[in-house]
Amino acid sequence: MDSIDFRSDTVTWPTAEMREAMATAQVGDDVYGEDPTVNALEQLAAAKLGKAAGLFVSSGTQGNLIAALTHTNRGDEIIMGQDAHTFCWEAGGAAVLGGITPLPLPTDAMGRMDLAQIEASIRGDNPHWPRSRLIVTENSAGGNHGAAIPVDYFAAIRQLSDRHQLRVHLDGARLFNATTALAIDPQAIAQQVDSVSICLSKGLCAPAGSVLVGDRDFIHQARRYRKLLGGGMRQAGILAAAGLIALETMSQRLATDHHHAQQLAQGLANIPGVVIDPHRVQTNMVFFTLDDTVPFTAQTLADKVWQTAEIKLGTYGDRKLRAVTHYWIQPAHVEALITAIQSILKAAI
Ligand SMILES: *Cc1c(COP(=O)(O)O)cnc(C)c1O
Repeated sequence: MDSIDFRSDTVTWPTAEMREAMATAQVGDDVYGEDPTVNALEQLAAAKLGKAAGLFVSSGTQGNLIAALTHTNRGDEIIMGQDAHTFCWEAGGAAVLGGITPLPLPTDAMGRMDLAQIEASIRGDNPHWPRSRLIVTENSAGGNHGAAIPVDYFAAIRQLSDRHQLRVHLDGARLFNATTALAIDPQAIAQQVDSVSICLSKGLCAPAGSVLVGDRDFIHQARRYRKLLGGGMRQAGILAAAGLIALETMSQRLATDHHHAQQLAQGLANIPGVVIDPHRVQTNMVFFTLDDTVPFTAQTLADKVWQTAEIKLGTYGDRKLRAVTHYWIQPAHVEALITAIQSILKAAI
Protein backbone atom coordinates (compact mmCIF):
# COMPACT_ATOMS: atom_id res chain seq x y z
CA MET A 1 0.00 0.00 0.00
CA ASP A 2 1.12 3.58 -0.53
CA SER A 3 0.64 4.53 3.13
CA ILE A 4 -0.01 2.90 6.49
CA ASP A 5 -3.76 3.19 6.70
CA PHE A 6 -5.60 2.16 9.88
CA ARG A 7 -8.81 4.08 9.11
CA SER A 8 -10.71 0.98 8.03
CA ASP A 9 -10.35 -2.44 6.44
CA THR A 10 -12.23 -1.03 3.44
CA VAL A 11 -8.97 0.58 2.31
CA THR A 12 -7.40 -2.78 1.53
CA TRP A 13 -6.02 -3.16 -1.96
CA PRO A 14 -6.49 -6.44 -3.84
CA THR A 15 -3.54 -8.82 -3.50
CA ALA A 16 -1.21 -9.73 -6.38
CA GLU A 17 -2.95 -13.11 -6.61
CA MET A 18 -6.29 -11.33 -6.97
CA ARG A 19 -5.03 -9.02 -9.72
CA GLU A 20 -3.71 -12.03 -11.62
CA ALA A 21 -7.01 -13.89 -11.27
CA MET A 22 -8.93 -10.78 -12.35
CA ALA A 23 -6.80 -10.38 -15.47
CA THR A 24 -7.50 -13.94 -16.59
CA ALA A 25 -11.08 -14.38 -15.33
CA GLN A 26 -13.65 -16.05 -17.58
CA VAL A 27 -16.59 -13.69 -17.98
CA GLY A 28 -20.06 -13.50 -19.52
CA ASP A 29 -23.17 -11.38 -19.13
CA ASP A 30 -24.18 -11.85 -15.51
CA VAL A 31 -27.60 -10.26 -16.05
CA TYR A 32 -28.25 -13.25 -18.34
CA GLY A 33 -26.80 -15.50 -15.62
CA GLU A 34 -23.93 -16.32 -17.98
CA ASP A 35 -20.86 -15.19 -16.09
CA PRO A 36 -19.17 -18.43 -14.94
CA THR A 37 -16.97 -16.68 -12.41
CA VAL A 38 -19.88 -14.85 -10.79
CA ASN A 39 -21.85 -18.10 -10.73
CA ALA A 40 -18.92 -19.87 -9.05
CA LEU A 41 -18.65 -17.13 -6.45
CA GLU A 42 -22.35 -17.20 -5.67
CA GLN A 43 -22.24 -20.98 -5.26
CA LEU A 44 -19.15 -20.88 -3.08
CA ALA A 45 -20.60 -18.22 -0.78
CA ALA A 46 -23.86 -20.15 -0.46
CA ALA A 47 -21.98 -23.39 0.29
CA LYS A 48 -19.73 -21.76 2.87
CA LEU A 49 -22.75 -20.37 4.69
CA GLY A 50 -24.93 -23.44 4.27
CA LYS A 51 -27.57 -21.69 2.15
CA ALA A 52 -29.09 -22.79 -1.16
CA ALA A 53 -28.22 -19.77 -3.30
CA GLY A 54 -26.20 -16.56 -3.50
CA LEU A 55 -26.28 -13.22 -5.29
CA PHE A 56 -23.22 -11.12 -6.07
CA VAL A 57 -24.01 -7.48 -5.28
CA SER A 58 -22.07 -4.27 -5.64
CA SER A 59 -21.63 -3.44 -1.94
CA GLY A 60 -22.63 -4.36 1.58
CA THR A 61 -25.12 -1.52 1.59
CA GLN A 62 -26.74 -2.90 -1.55
CA GLY A 63 -26.83 -6.40 -0.07
CA ASN A 64 -28.59 -5.21 3.09
CA LEU A 65 -30.99 -3.04 1.11
CA ILE A 66 -31.89 -5.86 -1.28
CA ALA A 67 -32.43 -8.17 1.70
CA ALA A 68 -34.72 -5.61 3.37
CA LEU A 69 -36.72 -5.06 0.18
CA THR A 70 -37.02 -8.79 -0.48
CA HIS A 71 -38.15 -9.72 3.03
CA THR A 72 -40.75 -6.95 3.38
CA ASN A 73 -43.56 -4.95 1.81
CA ARG A 74 -44.29 -1.23 2.00
CA GLY A 75 -45.63 -0.33 5.44
CA ASP A 76 -43.63 -3.04 7.20
CA GLU A 77 -41.25 -2.41 10.07
CA ILE A 78 -37.70 -3.64 10.63
CA ILE A 79 -36.36 -4.14 14.14
CA MET A 80 -32.64 -3.43 14.43
CA GLY A 81 -30.03 -2.26 16.91
CA GLN A 82 -29.66 1.49 17.19
CA ASP A 83 -25.90 1.13 16.50
CA ALA A 84 -26.48 -1.15 13.51
CA HIS A 85 -24.71 -0.23 10.30
CA THR A 86 -28.01 -0.59 8.47
CA PHE A 87 -29.60 2.00 10.72
CA CYS A 88 -26.70 4.45 11.00
CA TRP A 89 -24.64 4.27 7.84
CA GLU A 90 -26.77 3.25 4.87
CA ALA A 91 -28.56 6.53 4.13
CA GLY A 92 -31.89 5.16 5.34
CA GLY A 93 -32.24 3.20 2.11
CA ALA A 94 -34.96 0.80 3.27
CA ALA A 95 -37.14 3.73 4.36
CA VAL A 96 -36.32 5.88 1.33
CA LEU A 97 -36.78 3.23 -1.33
CA GLY A 98 -38.88 0.55 0.35
CA GLY A 99 -41.39 2.47 2.45
CA ILE A 100 -40.16 0.42 5.41
CA THR A 101 -39.96 1.91 8.92
CA PRO A 102 -36.89 1.15 10.99
CA LEU A 103 -37.48 0.47 14.69
CA PRO A 104 -34.07 0.99 16.35
CA LEU A 105 -33.67 -0.66 19.76
CA PRO A 106 -30.95 -0.04 22.37
CA THR A 107 -28.04 -2.46 22.36
CA ASP A 108 -25.60 -3.72 24.97
CA ALA A 109 -21.83 -3.23 24.81
CA MET A 110 -21.56 -6.03 22.23
CA GLY A 111 -24.28 -4.69 19.97
CA ARG A 112 -26.99 -7.13 21.10
CA MET A 113 -30.59 -6.05 21.42
CA ASP A 114 -32.45 -7.18 24.52
CA LEU A 115 -34.60 -10.19 23.61
CA ALA A 116 -37.48 -9.21 25.90
CA GLN A 117 -37.42 -5.74 24.40
CA ILE A 118 -37.54 -7.16 20.87
CA GLU A 119 -40.48 -9.31 21.83
CA ALA A 120 -42.28 -6.39 23.49
CA SER A 121 -41.81 -4.27 20.38
CA ILE A 122 -43.41 -6.77 17.99
CA ARG A 123 -46.76 -5.35 16.96
CA GLY A 124 -50.10 -7.03 16.60
CA ASP A 125 -52.54 -6.56 13.74
CA ASN A 126 -53.88 -3.03 14.03
CA PRO A 127 -54.44 -0.69 11.08
CA HIS A 128 -52.75 2.13 12.99
CA TRP A 129 -49.43 0.30 13.18
CA PRO A 130 -46.72 -0.71 10.77
CA ARG A 131 -46.39 -4.50 10.42
CA SER A 132 -43.45 -6.08 12.24
CA ARG A 133 -41.74 -8.19 9.59
CA LEU A 134 -37.99 -8.41 9.86
CA ILE A 135 -35.22 -8.41 12.45
CA VAL A 136 -31.80 -7.26 11.26
CA THR A 137 -28.76 -8.45 13.21
CA GLU A 138 -25.05 -7.73 12.72
CA ASN A 139 -21.88 -9.73 13.38
CA SER A 140 -19.19 -8.64 14.04
CA ALA A 141 -20.82 -5.57 15.56
CA GLY A 142 -18.94 -2.72 13.90
CA GLY A 143 -20.56 0.01 16.00
CA ASN A 144 -19.59 -1.86 19.16
CA HIS A 145 -15.82 -2.30 18.89
CA GLY A 146 -16.19 -5.12 16.35
CA ALA A 147 -17.58 -7.46 19.01
CA ALA A 148 -17.97 -11.11 18.00
CA ILE A 149 -21.47 -12.16 19.06
CA PRO A 150 -21.76 -15.89 19.96
CA VAL A 151 -24.26 -18.21 18.31
CA ASP A 152 -26.65 -18.44 21.29
CA TYR A 153 -27.90 -14.89 20.62
CA PHE A 154 -28.81 -15.82 17.06
CA ALA A 155 -30.47 -19.04 18.19
CA ALA A 156 -32.60 -17.05 20.64
CA ILE A 157 -33.53 -14.54 17.93
CA ARG A 158 -34.49 -17.46 15.67
CA GLN A 159 -36.84 -18.92 18.30
CA LEU A 160 -38.42 -15.57 18.97
CA SER A 161 -38.85 -14.75 15.29
CA ASP A 162 -40.35 -18.18 14.60
CA ARG A 163 -42.91 -17.62 17.35
CA HIS A 164 -43.95 -14.34 15.68
CA GLN A 165 -43.40 -15.33 12.05
CA LEU A 166 -40.71 -12.73 11.49
CA ARG A 167 -37.79 -12.99 9.09
CA VAL A 168 -34.18 -12.49 10.21
CA HIS A 169 -31.37 -10.96 8.17
CA LEU A 170 -27.74 -10.96 9.26
CA ASP A 171 -25.54 -8.08 8.18
CA GLY A 172 -22.41 -10.21 8.14
CA ALA A 173 -20.14 -7.64 6.51
CA ARG A 174 -17.44 -9.00 8.83
CA LEU A 175 -18.98 -12.36 9.67
CA PHE A 176 -15.68 -14.17 9.06
CA ASN A 177 -13.95 -11.90 11.56
CA ALA A 178 -16.61 -12.82 14.12
CA THR A 179 -16.48 -16.57 13.48
CA THR A 180 -12.68 -16.53 13.45
CA ALA A 181 -12.70 -14.88 16.89
CA LEU A 182 -15.34 -17.35 18.11
CA ALA A 183 -13.55 -20.31 16.48
CA ILE A 184 -16.80 -21.59 14.95
CA ASP A 185 -18.01 -22.43 11.45
CA PRO A 186 -19.90 -19.47 9.88
CA GLN A 187 -22.72 -21.92 9.11
CA ALA A 188 -23.44 -22.21 12.83
CA ILE A 189 -24.65 -18.61 12.81
CA ALA A 190 -25.96 -18.50 9.24
CA GLN A 191 -28.32 -21.40 9.90
CA GLN A 192 -30.12 -19.33 12.53
CA VAL A 193 -31.06 -16.58 10.05
CA ASP A 194 -32.93 -16.40 6.74
CA SER A 195 -30.37 -14.35 4.85
CA VAL A 196 -26.81 -13.17 5.24
CA SER A 197 -24.78 -10.56 3.42
CA ILE A 198 -20.99 -10.72 3.59
CA CYS A 199 -18.51 -8.11 2.38
CA LEU A 200 -15.66 -9.25 0.16
CA SER A 201 -14.05 -5.83 0.07
CA LYS A 202 -13.13 -5.28 3.72
CA GLY A 203 -10.68 -7.56 5.52
CA LEU A 204 -11.01 -10.05 2.67
CA CYS A 205 -9.26 -7.56 0.32
CA ALA A 206 -11.37 -7.85 -2.84
CA PRO A 207 -11.65 -4.49 -4.65
CA ALA A 208 -15.47 -4.44 -4.54
CA GLY A 209 -18.52 -6.54 -3.92
CA SER A 210 -20.59 -8.44 -1.39
CA VAL A 211 -22.59 -11.65 -1.56
CA LEU A 212 -26.13 -12.07 -0.29
CA VAL A 213 -27.20 -15.65 0.47
CA GLY A 214 -30.51 -17.31 1.34
CA ASP A 215 -32.93 -19.89 0.05
CA ARG A 216 -33.64 -20.23 -3.67
CA ASP A 217 -36.89 -18.33 -3.69
CA PHE A 218 -35.42 -15.48 -1.67
CA ILE A 219 -32.46 -15.12 -4.03
CA HIS A 220 -34.77 -15.32 -7.05
CA GLN A 221 -36.73 -12.33 -5.72
CA ALA A 222 -33.53 -10.58 -4.63
CA ARG A 223 -32.19 -10.76 -8.18
CA ARG A 224 -35.14 -8.63 -9.34
CA TYR A 225 -34.36 -5.99 -6.69
CA ARG A 226 -30.70 -5.99 -7.67
CA LYS A 227 -31.76 -5.18 -11.22
CA LEU A 228 -34.21 -2.52 -10.01
CA LEU A 229 -31.44 -0.85 -8.00
CA GLY A 230 -29.10 -0.76 -10.97
CA GLY A 231 -26.89 -3.54 -9.63
CA GLY A 232 -26.82 -5.78 -12.71
CA MET A 233 -23.13 -5.56 -13.56
CA ARG A 234 -22.67 -7.61 -16.77
CA GLN A 235 -19.04 -8.94 -16.99
CA ALA A 236 -18.70 -8.81 -13.23
CA GLY A 237 -16.59 -11.98 -13.27
CA ILE A 238 -13.55 -9.70 -13.20
CA LEU A 239 -14.61 -8.63 -9.71
CA ALA A 240 -15.91 -12.05 -8.71
CA ALA A 241 -12.50 -13.59 -9.51
CA ALA A 242 -11.05 -11.56 -6.65
CA GLY A 243 -14.07 -12.49 -4.54
CA LEU A 244 -13.33 -16.20 -4.95
CA ILE A 245 -9.84 -15.69 -3.54
CA ALA A 246 -11.32 -13.53 -0.78
CA LEU A 247 -13.62 -16.36 0.28
CA GLU A 248 -11.24 -19.26 -0.25
CA THR A 249 -8.00 -17.85 1.10
CA MET A 250 -8.38 -14.50 2.78
CA SER A 251 -11.16 -15.65 5.10
CA GLN A 252 -8.64 -18.12 6.61
CA ARG A 253 -6.06 -15.57 7.74
CA LEU A 254 -8.11 -13.12 9.83
CA ALA A 255 -6.68 -14.36 13.15
CA THR A 256 -3.48 -12.58 12.14
CA ASP A 257 -5.33 -9.24 11.93
CA HIS A 258 -6.95 -9.91 15.30
CA HIS A 259 -3.55 -10.64 16.80
CA HIS A 260 -2.25 -7.31 15.49
CA ALA A 261 -5.28 -5.51 16.91
CA GLN A 262 -4.57 -7.05 20.31
CA GLN A 263 -0.91 -6.01 20.02
CA LEU A 264 -2.04 -2.46 19.31
CA ALA A 265 -4.58 -2.44 22.16
CA GLN A 266 -1.99 -3.64 24.67
CA GLY A 267 0.47 -0.99 23.51
CA LEU A 268 -2.08 1.82 23.67
CA ALA A 269 -3.20 0.73 27.14
CA ASN A 270 0.25 1.68 28.47
CA ILE A 271 0.16 5.25 27.14
CA PRO A 272 -0.87 8.00 29.60
CA GLY A 273 -3.80 9.97 28.16
CA VAL A 274 -5.25 6.99 26.27
CA VAL A 275 -8.32 5.16 27.56
CA ILE A 276 -8.83 1.68 26.18
CA ASP A 277 -10.04 -1.70 27.44
CA PRO A 278 -8.11 -4.37 25.50
CA HIS A 279 -10.71 -6.97 26.53
CA ARG A 280 -13.19 -5.27 24.23
CA VAL A 281 -10.90 -5.89 21.26
CA GLN A 282 -12.15 -9.23 19.96
CA THR A 283 -11.60 -8.85 16.22
CA ASN A 284 -9.77 -6.30 14.06
CA MET A 285 -11.06 -3.01 15.51
CA VAL A 286 -9.36 -0.92 18.15
CA PHE A 287 -11.41 1.98 19.50
CA PHE A 288 -9.80 4.28 22.05
CA THR A 289 -10.48 7.68 23.60
CA LEU A 290 -8.40 10.57 24.90
CA ASP A 291 -8.82 11.45 28.56
CA ASP A 292 -9.18 14.97 30.00
CA THR A 293 -5.42 15.45 30.40
CA VAL A 294 -4.98 15.57 26.61
CA PRO A 295 -5.29 19.23 25.55
CA PHE A 296 -6.51 18.57 22.00
CA THR A 297 -9.14 16.65 20.06
CA ALA A 298 -9.07 13.24 18.42
CA GLN A 299 -8.77 14.94 15.03
CA THR A 300 -5.69 16.87 16.18
CA LEU A 301 -4.09 13.64 17.33
CA ALA A 302 -4.90 12.00 13.99
CA ASP A 303 -3.39 15.00 12.16
CA LYS A 304 -0.24 14.86 14.26
CA VAL A 305 0.12 11.11 13.71
CA TRP A 306 -0.14 11.72 9.98
CA GLN A 307 2.39 14.59 10.06
CA THR A 308 4.97 12.77 12.16
CA ALA A 309 4.59 9.14 11.03
CA GLU A 310 2.49 9.18 7.83
CA ILE A 311 -0.04 6.87 9.45
CA LYS A 312 -3.79 7.36 8.91
CA LEU A 313 -6.32 6.98 11.76
CA GLY A 314 -10.09 7.35 11.91
CA THR A 315 -11.84 9.72 14.33
CA TYR A 316 -15.33 9.53 15.85
CA GLY A 317 -16.46 12.74 17.51
CA ASP A 318 -14.31 14.82 19.81
CA ARG A 319 -12.29 12.29 21.80
CA LYS A 320 -12.66 8.94 20.09
CA LEU A 321 -10.40 7.27 17.52
CA ARG A 322 -10.43 3.98 15.67
CA ALA A 323 -7.63 1.86 14.24
CA VAL A 324 -8.55 -1.17 12.15
CA THR A 325 -6.05 -3.89 11.31
CA HIS A 326 -6.09 -5.72 7.98
CA TYR A 327 -3.99 -7.61 5.45
CA TRP A 328 -1.73 -4.64 4.68
CA ILE A 329 -0.94 -3.89 8.34
CA GLN A 330 2.24 -5.54 9.62
CA PRO A 331 3.51 -5.78 13.23
CA ALA A 332 6.07 -3.04 12.45
CA HIS A 333 3.20 -0.69 11.46
CA VAL A 334 1.49 -1.40 14.77
CA GLU A 335 4.71 -0.59 16.63
CA ALA A 336 5.16 2.60 14.60
CA LEU A 337 1.64 3.74 15.50
CA ILE A 338 2.12 3.03 19.21
CA THR A 339 5.44 4.91 19.19
CA ALA A 340 3.95 7.90 17.34
CA ILE A 341 0.99 8.27 19.71
CA GLN A 342 3.24 7.78 22.73
CA SER A 343 5.63 10.56 21.75
CA ILE A 344 2.89 13.00 20.67
CA LEU A 345 1.01 12.60 23.95
CA LYS A 346 4.19 12.69 26.04
CA ALA A 347 5.05 16.08 24.55
CA ALA A 348 1.52 17.38 25.15
CA ILE A 349 0.67 16.39 28.73
C1 LIG B 1 -19.11 -1.86 5.58
C2 LIG B 1 -20.33 -2.38 6.17
C3 LIG B 1 -21.51 -2.45 5.44
C4 LIG B 1 -21.66 -1.84 4.07
O1 LIG B 1 -20.72 -2.20 3.17
P1 LIG B 1 -20.34 -1.22 1.94
O2 LIG B 1 -19.70 -2.17 1.03
O3 LIG B 1 -19.44 -0.21 2.51
O4 LIG B 1 -21.60 -0.65 1.41
C5 LIG B 1 -22.60 -3.00 6.04
N1 LIG B 1 -22.56 -3.46 7.29
C6 LIG B 1 -21.45 -3.41 8.04
C7 LIG B 1 -21.48 -3.95 9.42
C8 LIG B 1 -20.30 -2.86 7.51
O5 LIG B 1 -19.21 -2.78 8.25
